[in-house]
This record gives sequence, C-alpha cells and structure tokens, in this order.
Amino acid sequence: MAETEKRPTNFIRQIIDRDIESGLHTTVHTRFPPEPNGFLHIGHAKSICLNFGIAEDYQGTCNLRFDDTNPEKESIDYVNAIKSDVSWLGYHWDGEVRYSSDYFDSLHGYAVELIEKGLAFVDFSTQEQIREMRGTLKAPGQHSPYRDTDVATNLQEFEKMTQGEYTEGHCCLRAKIDMASPFMCMRDPVIYRIKFAHHHQTGEKWCVYPMYDFTHCISDAIEGISHSLCTLEFQDNRRLYDWVIDNISIATQPRQYEFSRLNLEYTVLSKRKLIQLVTEGFVDGWDDPRMPTIAGLRRRGYTPASVREFCSRIGVTKMDNLIEMSMLEACIRDELNEHAPRAMAVLDPVKIVIENYAQGEGETLTAANHPNKPELGSRELAFDKEIYIERDDFREEANKKYKRLVLGKEVRLRNAYVIKAERVEKDEDGNIQTIYCTYDADTLGKDPADGRKVKGVIHWVSALRHEKAEIRLYDRLFKEPNPGALELAEAYNPDSLVKLNGVVESGLANKAIGEAVQFERTGYFCLDKESKAGALVFNRTVALRDTWAKIGD
Ligand code: ATP
Ligand code: MG
Repeated sequence: MAETEKRPTNFIRQIIDRDIESGLHTTVHTRFPPEPNGFLHIGHAKSICLNFGIAEDYQGTCNLRFDDTNPEKESIDYVNAIKSDVSWLGYHWDGEVRYSSDYFDSLHGYAVELIEKGLAFVDFSTQEQIREMRGTLKAPGQHSPYRDTDVATNLQEFEKMTQGEYTEGHCCLRAKIDMASPFMCMRDPVIYRIKFAHHHQTGEKWCVYPMYDFTHCISDAIEGISHSLCTLEFQDNRRLYDWVIDNISIATQPRQYEFSRLNLEYTVLSKRKLIQLVTEGFVDGWDDPRMPTIAGLRRRGYTPASVREFCSRIGVTKMDNLIEMSMLEACIRDELNEHAPRAMAVLDPVKIVIENYAQGEGETLTAANHPNKPELGSRELAFDKEIYIERDDFREEANKKYKRLVLGKEVRLRNAYVIKAERVEKDEDGNIQTIYCTYDADTLGKDPADGRKVKGVIHWVSALRHEKAEIRLYDRLFKEPNPGALELAEAYNPDSLVKLNGVVESGLANKAIGEAVQFERTGYFCLDKESKAGALVFNRTVALRDTWAKIGD
C-alpha cells in the first residue's frame, strides 16, 4: 500500500494502542466476516479497510471469514465475487479463506455442551408461539413449556433434530438465559434450527444449522480474534456473545467494538435492496456502474486506491451519518486528474466541413497526453476536412458569454486550428445537419498573426478517421437523498443512465477494459467490459469539476 495514504486514528485504534501498551494483547488479529448472500458494497469497503488496515498497520493478521449459516440465501458465486472484491481492494487475508461452516462440528459440540449444562433446551413450540412468548420492550416474556425439560431428553431430542427425524420448523434449540432481560436477544434466543438445505460448503451433511449470533462469536473465538469489529446494530448482541463464550469451554474471549455503518446519499446499502434492484431489473446486474457495489464502482472506473481513500476520509466513529455522494466522487476525481491521460471524444456529434481545407489532405497532428505531465507523452491526432464537434458547442446566435462556435465567429479547435463558422445546412425539420467553416492555416499552435483574439476552445474528432463509441452517462440511482424507507420504484431515477452515440479518437480502440481516460471537457471515462472492436463502449466515471470554466454557456 502506498505510504502516502493517510492513516488517521480513530477510537478503535486508540483502544488497540491501549491494549498493546497494557500488554493485554501482543498481536492484533481482526477479521472481515461477510455473509455470502450478495455482492459487497461500499459500506463493506469501510469495514474491510478498517479490519485489514488495522492488521497491516499493527503487523497483525486479518482473516476473511464467510459467515455462512443461511444456506438458502447463499451461493458459491457470491463467495467468489467477495473474494475477488477484497483482493481488488488490495488486501490479503491471513492463510486460507475461512468459513463458519468449517466449525459446524465444533459449534454442534458447543450446543451439546450447553444442553449438558442445563443451559439450552429443545423447544417444540411453533414459531408463532415463540414470538408471542417473547414479550415486548415493555413487558417481560414468558417461559416456554419446554424450558424445564431434563438434560437427557434434550440431548435425545437435539440428536433427533440432527438426524433429520423432525421436519423444518417442528422444533428448535434455544439457549436458556433470561426471559425478563431488557435485551430481547437474551430472551432464550434460538441457537439451532432445522433446515433441509444444500449448503455450498458442506453439501448435504447437515439438516440443522446454527443461528448467526451463536456462530459468530464462537467463530471469532476459535480463530483467536483479538478485536472483533462490527457495526452498531450488533451492540445489544454483544451480551449474548459474551454469555455464549462464558458458558462453553473455549479459552479466548474476543472483545467486540461497534462503529456506525456507512450510509451514502442517493443510494441504498442493504444487500436485501440491492438484490431487489438486480432481480427486478432496475439495473443491469450487480456490477451495473450505478450500483454502490465494489463491482459496480470498479466497472464505473473507480480504482482501489480511490475507494480506500474514501474510507480514510469518512473515518470511523459511533455517530450516525449520511455521507454526500460528492465525497466519493472527489476521491476518484482527485486521482484521475493526476493520472488519466487526456483524449477527445464527441458525445453528441454535429458535422463540420472545412471548405478551404484541401480535399483528401488529412494530416496528423500531435497532442500532449496530459497538460502538465510531459512524462505521459503525446499522441497522434487525425485532422481532416470533415470533423465532428458537440452539437451543443455551436449556436447560430449567442451573446458574448458564449465562448464556443457562433455563426460568423471564430473558435479554436483544441490541439489544432482556429475555424470560423460561415453557414449551416439544415434538414426539413430545421435541425442543423452540417456547419460549413473556414480555417486559418496559420494558427496551428499559435495565435492568429494579425492579433485577432479567439477566446473559446472546443474539442473535436475527425469525421473521416475515428472510432464510433457508445457513451454511457450515469446519474444518481435514486431521486431521493435517503431512499431507504421508500419503495424502489418510487425512488428510482429513470434518468440514471443515458446512452449516447458518440465518436472518439481512433487511438482509444487500444484501451484496456477499465482503463481511465479524460475526455476533454466532458469527464473521466473508462472502457466498459461490453466494448467490442468497432463498437466501443465508455462509462463516465465522474464528470469534471468546472473545467475550462472560461468557455461559458
Ligand atoms: P447488509 O445490510 O448489506 O446485508 P450485512 O451487515 O448484513 O449488510 P454482512 O455480510 O453481514 O452484511 O457484513 C459483513 C461486515 O460488513 C459486517 O461486519 C458488517 O458490520 C459490515 N458492514 C455491512 N454494511 C456496512 C456498512 N454500511 N457500513 C460499514 N460496515 C458495514
Ligand atoms: Mg448480515
């Protein structure tokens, strides 16, 4: 990782510093524990950067562990996508990838241990009854009629559950804790349930699966996690985790610390909603460039460093937050402004014919790849009698503020000559078809000889030698800054994707998928994976700031 990346401290790092100073820990061992039930999103990136970043900085280790206790919702495709996203972000997990399912035998053993200690019982109440007996935040719950079943019977019944002798939902294993606890998670929580489901790691081996809460804390303990970092919604569950670990024979006790989730404006960061966007066809898959997924950001043109930089800028606290999209955009823009080579592309072309330029006399000009980085070299530009400019860069009439091409006036073509618009040709509906211009041959790389001032500069692409390209412009996925509570259809922004048929410099055909480029005046782009020879596709990663502001409207 680049040394220039800042590592601001936060309350978790302060706790770790204290633990190391006091000798409580000599090494730091963290983990990132995703459930493989969807692709990772930018919120997960926050957790990844925190966990892996801490391990890196304290010369500790960080595990990648799949918390895979819900076989019906999980899949190997999600496992693979998550592994590739973590690697893409630039992090390395310690040893092999781990799975909570690696510990199913141990977890089952610990469940038996709780039964033997009289701390767990098999409950034959229906789910409905269990819910009713749980009580409310104001009223304590009631004891299940099965709560006092003797240990021997509980052991037998749990064994029958495990052997597949009961149907799904017929019974479950519950911890015996405290039905009057102010923490609902302590009211005899279910710790094992029956599920006749194929598991992506363990196949058909099990028909009982441990619940997340029971699994998570034991998995952390088995792996010797020193600091178990998670989001605030698990704050109450910490009591249950501590109870489980205190009551089974396991040596380590990871300490859990909670931080606030990342929320980002104009998008949703919940896998349930993201799945819905994909399955209901609002977007074109998990890696649609509008998605806040790591895969979507990558396809959009974000780099690993820009995502890490974002996570560093937002920091880690316990405060609720809704981060502005512009914060994320600034991270990639800052990076691309430094590194992306420049090129010209016309997104909405209108043709120009330069009448005094000799027929068949095209030439090859040279343009710098970066205005202030000569080390990025230069490229060849085809200039011809016929070129394209943006439809929006021409007006028949305009006031002085409009510093682009106006009928009867001059403008400079970026990296080329000064041209003057002489007349236009329109179709039957009055749309401009062609703009006829003349050029001043003595203005390549220099001002007009007679001291004429030409203020505007516009970009262009040869109409005879270029590549066609579909240009995809993205806007916010949702119309509302905080769409979480709304129906997707209601909040969805139908203009979040606009496709244009543009033209780009021929050299851009050689770009690699994902490679960044700045199209002068229109933004930072990258080649999309759907690109083919002769049918390039570019995604706009992010628009420019007020570039060339002097050009005016
Ligand atoms: P989702 O609500 O999207 O399903 P989750 O928390 O259920 O998220 P997990 O796969 O269980 O997803 O998350 C793995 C880790 O990532 C957890 O430690 C979780 O706390 C963290 N995480 C998930 N979402 C965010 C977020 N928005 N901000 C920060 N950390 C997050
Ligand atoms: Mg979860």
